[in-house]
Formats: sequence, C-alpha cells, structure tokens
Amino acid sequence: MQEAQPPDARRRVPRTDDVLADPRLAAAAKVIGRSTVKQYVVDAQQRARQGDIAADTVADTAVAALPEHATTLRHVINATGVVLHTNIGRAALSAAAVDAIRVAAGHTDVEYDLATGARARRGRGTVHALAAAVPAAEDVHVVNNGAAALVLAATALARGREIVVSRGEMVEIGDGFRLPELLASTGATLHEVGTTNRTSLSDYADAVGPETGFVLKVHPSNFVVHGFTSSVPLAELAELPVPVVVDIGSGLLEPDRLLPAEPDAATALRDGAALVTASGDKLLGGPQAGLLLGRADLVDRLRRHPLARAVRVDKLTLAALEATLRGPEPPAWQALRRDPAAVRARVEAVAQALRADGVPTEVVRTASVVGGGGAPGVELPSWGLGLDAALAAPLRTGHPPVVGRVERDQLVLDLRCVAPEDDDTVRAAVVAAAEA
Ligand SMILES: *Cc1c(COP(=O)(O)O)cnc(C)c1O
Repeated sequence: MQEAQPPDARRRVPRTDDVLADPRLAAAAKVIGRSTVKQYVVDAQQRARQGDIAADTVADTAVAALPEHATTLRHVINATGVVLHTNIGRAALSAAAVDAIRVAAGHTDVEYDLATGARARRGRGTVHALAAAVPAAEDVHVVNNGAAALVLAATALARGREIVVSRGEMVEIGDGFRLPELLASTGATLHEVGTTNRTSLSDYADAVGPETGFVLKVHPSNFVVHGFTSSVPLAELAELPVPVVVDIGSGLLEPDRLLPAEPDAATALRDGAALVTASGDKLLGGPQAGLLLGRADLVDRLRRHPLARAVRVDKLTLAALEATLRGPEPPAWQALRRDPAAVRARVEAVAQALRADGVPTEVVRTASVVGGGGAPGVELPSWGLGLDAALAAPLRTGHPPVVGRVERDQLVLDLRCVAPEDDDTVRAAVVAAAEA
C-alpha cells in the first residue's frame, strides 16, 4: 500500500505534533484525552497520505471526526415505546439525579461526618430517604443491583441451607441469567415446590423445616401465565414459621393505579414479607441499584455480612438514588403517565413538519409497554411516526442515535418515551436519515 502513494503528498502531510498544536485539537485533548485526539490525527494523516484528503485539511478532518465526550457511550433517544429498555440503559435519570451525581463526583461526605470529623454510616441520606418513602420497612439497605440484593439475602440467610421457592417462579431475568442458578451460586439449595402453573400453601408448608433459610416469592416480571393457575397470597405464606423474602423486581414502592397488578414494597411488607428486594432502575426510575427493605434484624445481618462489602454501592449511585427518591417525578413516570392525546398531537406536528421536508410520514396508533422492568402484558395506548423501515439503520447511527421499532415493515417512532423538548431533535434526525 505505502509504495502506491504519491511521494509529494506524503511529504506535505503535516507532522503529528504540529497538528496537535491546533488550538481546537488542544482544547479537545483536555476533554477527551490527548491519546484519543492523537488517534484521530493519525487517521487523518493516513487519509492524506493515501490522497483521500488534501494535506492541508488534516487538522480540519481530525476536528470534524472527534467525539464530543471521553466516553464511547452515546446518548440515545428512546423512540422504542419501551419505557424501561434494558439494552439502552433502563430508566433515564431525572435532572435532579444528574445534578446530584455532579455534586457527588468529587470528594464528598458519603461516609464522613463533617461535624465531628469521624467516620459516618455510608450513604445515610439515601438510606433515610428510602426508609421515609416506605414507612412499613423497619430498616433498609442499598446494594449494586437487584441481583446483588438477592445474592446477599441468599448468602446471609440461606447459605448451606434451603430456599423454598415455587416452580412457577423459577424465572430467567434476561440475557441468559436465571434466578435458580444465581441463588444456587450462593451455596444455598433450592427446594422447588408445586408446578409451573399451580402451587398451594400445603406445598410450601410440607417443604418448610429446620433446613429452611427462607421462603422466596419471586414476581414473574417479564411474562404472564394464563389459564389454570394458582399461587399462594403472601399473607398466607407469612404465616409459615420462616422468613418470607419477596423479590418484587420492579422497585415500585407503593401501589400505583396505573399498574394495578404490579407488586409494591409497602404492600408486600404489610402482607408480612420479612424482606423485600427490588431494582433501582426499573419502576423507581433511578440509577442501577438493589434495594433491601424489611425486618431490622435481617437487614442488619445483611449489612454486616462480609459479602455486603463486595456489593457495596457507589457514591454516584447513592446520590442519584436519593435525588430520585426526594426529587421531582423521574422521566420513566413522566413517560408512563403521558396522555395519549398529547402524544398524538406531538406526533401530528412532527409528521406535518417531516412531510413539508419531503419525508413521507404516517401518524400511527401504537402501544407502549413498561418493559423488562415490570408490568408484563400491560399496554399503554400511544402514537408514533410511521416511516420507511429503511430509515431504521441510519437513524440508529445518526447524531444523536434514535432507536424505534419495526412493526409490520414500517419503522415506528413512538413519542411516549421521548421528552417533548426532543421532538425537534427527532424531526431533524429523521430528515438527516432520509438524506443519508
Ligand atoms: C429485574 C429483576 C431482577 C434483577 O434485578 P437487576 O437490578 O437487574 O439486577 C431480579 N428479579 C426480578 C423479579 C426482576 O424483575
């Protein structure tokens, strides 16, 4: 390859250090790092040597290609209609949570009492906010995610003993991760009772004995069974002489009329759960986190267990979680509560603008879903832009990426999960994709 280049073009390509001295590249180096900037310069030099670009445009070419941020993660516009989409980061944080992360990013009193100069309970503000949000919990603890909350409970309360669980609740939570395997990895033995569709109180009662660490009730959060089914109400399970741990999954703290079938922490505790585990980034609308709520003696055992240190939650998460609990309604709930008529009006306005720009666009009736995070089977009426399916790929790779879903050979951009202030960004992205 090298020999094929015109020798004069090669000579005229500016030296790397000279290009890096360009003020625009020097400024970018402070944001995204000198070695990253250098890589873009080297790429541009290579193109100049090959004669793809003029030698005097190396700096301009590098500047044009530079990423804006030091992370390769991209901000994505969620037009999938799935409120909590695990592949694109589940819950979007509120502005309050983002602000809290900025505050905690430097040194912070996460585990330090500024009044006395002594060590303090880690994340106490977050713990207090969570406890205040669920008064039925005697105590609460926060770990890295829902799976970690379950693993900590299983390890501390049932390692070397048995966890009694219904066969109908042995679920896979996604990406090949199965709860039974997760629990077995802690050294607890699973004692399965009942059948896939029916489990009775006597199934549990017969299984419970001196070897039982706890009875586990798991919310099947990503599917529904219909037909000849039965499961045992929590209030009845709570009569058994062992603790009942309830994995509600979604992180709904109290009942919500919008999702009547979705279990919540307060109700589970009032019905007799000894411990509730949940995620922070599903229906709570906060950062990835695992919540543990319940009996003070059990929460204390979990907090003191050596494994607690391995699933300890980060200061940024604590900050965002507290802001989610104390702050304004997070984007996930804004999306869930959005009036379909308002979504329709936005879709019509964007569709009209797109047609004026020469992009054929339909206004389509669609349905949004809560997502892997909860409320399986619940559909929320919504509206979307109906576009040529060929636009799906250029929209995904555009700036910013817009992800929709292909339905019956049509690309649908459901605006329920898109913030109204992003409508024009979506419109511009579609125009750019149509021109690509
Ligand atoms: C999502 C979910 C989990 C796992 O929680 P993560 O926060 O993703 O680790 C566990 N159990 C149930 C029922 C869930 O829905």
